[in-house]
Amino acid sequence: MWTSERSSADGPTLIAMPDAAALAAFEEQVSACTRCRLAQGRTQVVFGVGNPHADLMFVGEAPGFHEDKQGYPFVGQAGKLLDKLLAGIGLQRSEVYIANVLKCRPPGNRDPQQDEIEACESHLFRQIELIEPTVVATLGNFATKLLSGKPTGITRVHGVEQETTLGGNRVTLYPLYHPAAALYTPKMLQVLEEDFARLPALLGRPAEPPPQLEPEPEPLSAEPAVQLGLF
Ligand code: URA
Repeated sequence: MWTSERSSADGPTLIAMPDAAALAAFEEQVSACTRCRLAQGRTQVVFGVGNPHADLMFVGEAPGFHEDKQGYPFVGQAGKLLDKLLAGIGLQRSEVYIANVLKCRPPGNRDPQQDEIEACESHLFRQIELIEPTVVATLGNFATKLLSGKPTGITRVHGVEQETTLGGNRVTLYPLYHPAAALYTPKMLQVLEEDFARLPALLGRPAEPPPQLEPEPEPLSAEPAVQLGLF
C-alpha cells in the first residue's frame, strides 16, 4: 500500500492507494515533466510498461525514435530482441516491467547527458519503490552505472549480480549488455543469452527446460526390406 496526500478544507489527508493505482497516478504526474531540455523535443514521456507488481524489472537507457512515437519502451529492433530473450526464459513482456533511465528521447538518439540523468533519476527510483521488484536487470552502461552507483563499465560487470538497496527496497541488481549492442555483434548476443539464462535462478524459479529438439530420424537399416530392382 502507498499513501497519497490530498488537500481539503481541513488540510491534507492521507489516502491509501494500492500500488498499481499509485504507479498509474505517478505516471500521470511524470507525463507533464519539464525538468530538463528533453521535454521540448519529445512527442511524449515514455514512462514504462508491464506488470506493476513484477518481480523482474529491466532498465534501459532512453527512448529512441519508435519509443518516442509509440509511448512504450523497447518497441524497436532492440525491443524485439528483448522479447525473444524473455521468451527464451519462459517470460512475456507483460510479466515483467520495463523502463529507462531517461523518460524522454534525446535528440538523434545521442547519449544521455549527466544533468538529464540527474533530473530524471528520481522518477526511476520512485518506479522501483512502487513496483518492488526483487531483481533489477540493467541494460547497458547508463543504467548499470546509475543503479550500481559505481563507474565500472558493463563489460566488466555483466552477468555478475550485486545485492543493493534501490527505492528503499533490497534488490538483486543484475547488469546485462544492452540488446541494441548485441543486435549486430554475435559474440555479445551469445553472452547476453548466457547471462539471461541465469535470470530464473536469480528470481528463485526453476530454469526453463532446454528447447525441444526435432526427433532424430530412424537409422537406415542395413538390409532394405524390399530389394529394389535396378531397372
Ligand atoms: N533502447 C533503450 O535503452 N530503451 C528503449 O526504450 C529503446 C531502446
